[in-house]
Amino acid sequence: MEPFVLYRKYRPKNFDEVVGQGAIIKVLKNAVNQKKLSHAYLFTGKHGTGKTTVARILAKAVNCFDEKNKPCNTCAQCEEFNSGKTLDLVEIDAASNRGIDEVRALKEAVNFLPFKNRFRVYIIDEVHMLTREAFNALLKTLEEPPKHIIFILATTSPDKLPQTIISRTEQYHFKRIPEKLIAENIFDIAKKEKIEIAKEAVWLIGFFADGSLRDAHGYLGKIIAAGESPIKEKTALEILGAPSQELVQNLIKAILEKKVENGLLLIRSAEENNLDAKIFTKFLLRIFRYMYLLNLEPDYQKELKDILGESEFGFISENHRKLNPSQYEMILINFLEVHRAISTTAIPYLPLELALYRIISKI
Ligand SMILES: [Zn+2]
Repeated sequence: MEPFVLYRKYRPKNFDEVVGQGAIIKVLKNAVNQKKLSHAYLFTGKHGTGKTTVARILAKAVNCFDEKNKPCNTCAQCEEFNSGKTLDLVEIDAASNRGIDEVRALKEAVNFLPFKNRFRVYIIDEVHMLTREAFNALLKTLEEPPKHIIFILATTSPDKLPQTIISRTEQYHFKRIPEKLIAENIFDIAKKEKIEIAKEAVWLIGFFADGSLRDAHGYLGKIIAAGESPIKEKTALEILGAPSQELVQNLIKAILEKKVENGLLLIRSAEENNLDAKIFTKFLLRIFRYMYLLNLEPDYQKELKDILGESEFGFISENHRKLNPSQYEMILINFLEVHRAISTTAIPYLPLELALYRIISKI
């Protein structure tokens, strides 16, 4: 399966289908219904959180014929937008050619009325990649925006945008999508695709996606492509490059039992198996976090049972009482520091080795 097949296939076509951006959707829906539109929007946030998807829905909604339900996805305008035939939606990917030609063309084009619609909408993706020249051209247009034009700028790095551009837009920050909503979406897609998949594998995808629905769909596509049915958690772990549960649990046991030497051997075996140190640390954080929460909040057990596979759930229930909350706090803070340090260090496994000794000597 191609990496983005599922993401394209299940891309929302109206506001209500968008996952995890409720606050933004509410405001935009109101703006569309009350015809209180801005001439320039800035959508910021991590990749795969729905910026371009919402931009396209908004472009369609402002031109939809239906009075109440915008976009209706049935009127002639909506159909033109959905089939990609409309000339009143112009999408510019600033990352591909830095937008020089497009923005120059745009400067001239904005003076013409839309071909068929109320508005012509320009979506500029990864807008922070525009050249200075293109920014200047864009700024000129934003300073005196023609009534029939709406700009939707999208970026993962708003800090790289000139303040002069930002100040002329209405800004919306797209949050990382919570694990739970990603998992629900994956369950839904698996059902529609008639794929049998273990619930633990679905939660694993949610955890791995780190807030990006696009990544989650990509992971699911990759796992489906392996052809297993029903899909087991073990397969998902392998395909995603995650450490085995045994390895993670043994290292946690070594920490609980204060066995430095054992711990170091396990860390070395992870390194020798070419596991990504950051992902390995993330899995340690994940289990320690659940142990910590369960310690403070025994009722959390019910929720955990839904999220985790039997082996992980059994391990956590059996062992979480072995330390107290402040010891878990110390461990979590140390591993969070490891997670940060790995990206900037010459030896990715060194922060883990250092933390292991530090943690065990403090327990
Ligand atoms: Zn419509």
